[in-house]
Amino acid sequence: MAMRGYIYRGRKPVHWSPSSRTALAEAELEYPEGHVSKSIYAIFKIVSPPPASNGLLEEFFPDICLAIWTTTPWTIPANAAVAVNSGLEYVVAELHASVEDTLATSGGKQIKRGNALKVGENKLFVIVASELVSRLESKWGVKLSIRKTFPGSALENCRYTHPVNGNECPVVLGGDYITTESGTGLVHTAPGHGQEDYVTGLKYGLPIISPVDDEGKFTEEARKFSGLDVLGAGNSAVVDHLDKHLSLLVEEPYKHKYPYDWRTKKPTIFRATEQWFASVDGFRQAAMDAIGKVNWIPPQAENRIIAMTCSRSDWCISRQRTWGVPIPVFYHVHTKEPLMTEETIEHIRNIVADKGTDAWWYLPTEELLPQKYHDVASDYQKGTDTMDVWFDSGSSWAAVLTKNEGLSFPADIYLEGTDQHRGWFQSSLLTSIATTGKAPYSSVITHGFVLDEKGLKMSKSLGNVVDPDIVINGGKNTKDEPGYGADVLRLWVSSVDYSGDVLIGPQVLRQMSDMYRKLRGTLRFLLSNLHDWKPEYALLYKDLPKIDKYALFQLENVVNSIKDSYENYQFYKIFQMIQRFAVVDLSNFYFDVAKDRLYVGGTVSFTRRSCQTVLAAHLLSIVRVIAPILPHMAEDVWQNLPFEYVMEDGLVPKFVFELKWPSLKGDWLAMEADDVDFWNTILELRSEVNKVLENARIGKLIGSSLEAKVILHAADGATLTKLREMCSATNDADALHRIFITSQVETVNSLSDEFLSTVPYTGKYTSQRTSEVWVGVTHADGAKCERCWNYSPQVGSFVDHPTLCARCYGVVDVQPLPAAAGVC
Ligand SMILES: [Zn+2]
Repeated sequence: MAMRGYIYRGRKPVHWSPSSRTALAEAELEYPEGHVSKSIYAIFKIVSPPPASNGLLEEFFPDICLAIWTTTPWTIPANAAVAVNSGLEYVVAELHASVEDTLATSGGKQIKRGNALKVGENKLFVIVASELVSRLESKWGVKLSIRKTFPGSALENCRYTHPVNGNECPVVLGGDYITTESGTGLVHTAPGHGQEDYVTGLKYGLPIISPVDDEGKFTEEARKFSGLDVLGAGNSAVVDHLDKHLSLLVEEPYKHKYPYDWRTKKPTIFRATEQWFASVDGFRQAAMDAIGKVNWIPPQAENRIIAMTCSRSDWCISRQRTWGVPIPVFYHVHTKEPLMTEETIEHIRNIVADKGTDAWWYLPTEELLPQKYHDVASDYQKGTDTMDVWFDSGSSWAAVLTKNEGLSFPADIYLEGTDQHRGWFQSSLLTSIATTGKAPYSSVITHGFVLDEKGLKMSKSLGNVVDPDIVINGGKNTKDEPGYGADVLRLWVSSVDYSGDVLIGPQVLRQMSDMYRKLRGTLRFLLSNLHDWKPEYALLYKDLPKIDKYALFQLENVVNSIKDSYENYQFYKIFQMIQRFAVVDLSNFYFDVAKDRLYVGGTVSFTRRSCQTVLAAHLLSIVRVIAPILPHMAEDVWQNLPFEYVMEDGLVPKFVFELKWPSLKGDWLAMEADDVDFWNTILELRSEVNKVLENARIGKLIGSSLEAKVILHAADGATLTKLREMCSATNDADALHRIFITSQVETVNSLSDEFLSTVPYTGKYTSQRTSEVWVGVTHADGAKCERCWNYSPQVGSFVDHPTLCARCYGVVDVQPLPAAAGVC
């Protein structure tokens, strides 16, 4: 296998507590306000101008300096560069010192003015950010006359003399961390003593100097300062050195937040220590290629992981923690050379497989070393570094996928919050690419965070925390905090677009509960109207009335769309489709119209059986498509199914999850486009008719819509013909008066003034699809049928049943009155 990455030892700055001699994590730091540092403004003499900008600084030589500011003068010996912000404007200013006392005060603070300000007859030019000129004039007590202005980018690779060791160092371009909030706009850069400096240092290949030992004292590397405490005498010695060499402009006390060790309550320092790194360069391209093959949901997640992976530096995998997975390395007691070979790792791996990672800590070094080192075991000591926890979680794929039966590599899905592009998604990718060459996942889903109803972060102090347990089981006061059950919470989860942050609170939950109840009502209607149903009663599709074919067409479309949305993890679309389907298509239309067929159409009549055929199809599909989101409701339905359902393979599912996804019904979908259009027209026309009926109700012409007769006229002959056909449909279910839930619907060929004067309520339906349809409403003809409440001129014409209409007469003549069915 090709070498993809490797482990190496290098230096990296970490928070270090000299008083407890340990590296600290962020969590172990305190930032008390009011730490007073000795802050200094210093100048570094420029020795060669930036090579890329012709003659920018030449005229000021040899008296031109970079001016910097630091609150940690002890880091000056470790200086490796001065960083500027390429986007800021800088100036060369001539410094005119006043002849004031060397001690001054500014804002009550004692300021010491350095020897560099005693320039006398000599000229001195300094480079500072142009925005800071006036502030520095008052701070330094000098006059600065601007001689030249240029962008920070022009200074790149200008070189200056290191104020302590005399080396030549470069000016580099740093990041946005260089601002004009304080200082000079030029940042003294010591990659061994600061995180941002370290990153800039990596970019420019700067040396990572850190001449400070475990006790916080300068090492030999710091030459004349060796042995001095960096936070005490060492710091002062550096300031004195700068002043003696005319590099100190001003020294002043500076009060700010500074990291303290929370255990010892003493200030900490940033210090580069030896760490273990995993090189990323060797497999960065392979990682980038693998990213392209993963399905990122939502798609913009791909750009985030690309940005983080293509720019990331080598991975520092070691930590100095007291617990964790040990790094299995030995060090030679005298030379400090690390010992880590395939043989030592293999030996330790076997021990860990048997005894766990704790074995590293309690077994003697001799036992941890392979046999051939036993004679020299006393020359070695085991390392105490632990592995970065991201390395632990980042290798979970290896522990989970390859060790458990039924799982396979790569994982189907990794699912986590958007913050994990930097964390788990990336650490998993890197470990997997380095060892297998493949991403550990086929798909990655990222989600936002849960916020309260107003979009605020949940916090105990705001009192806006939504506890899932209380949502499900209810709180102490069940009036304010009712127990909604798990399904309502699940329904909410499905309803939100998780690709961004999602909102939850009492009002949202109430809405979810309403929706849940509507859906439950839909399913109750289906169950109760199928109480006497048997699958063998089902009518053939080709024999169904048009309204039923259209209902099945809609059902099949919804089922297919829901399937697509499940497959694309767009659950909120499923929620929207189910909501719309249950409320608009079913409750407001099909069920509404179906009640007449179901309750008074005759128990075993064609109209009722065909309607039940459609209802059974709806029940069997809806229960399956909602089951993943609302498993309790779906199971409740299944356990109360009034008929036995046998699947195609002969299995009778005992539980809802034994059902398969509904099979595709091609014939249901095959409805002609013209017919679909016509039904859309009818439904829109129905809305207009309902408006006119409502006006008639307000005007007290009618009470219920069954007291009305609807009259239609269309200027366009084809539309008029179709409407007329529907008025006198041979099939009762398709008759327009059933669809409008009125007693009669008629068409008229023309609208004379005389006719219009007889119609009290009118309206107009317009659409792109068809010509304008005129709608009129009058009182229905005839008398009210006692059984179905429809009005009919035939009521009274049957001697043996004088209170019934012709339809009901036919029904009661062949059967007893049907048992009461459920209500919607
Ligand atoms: Zn009737």
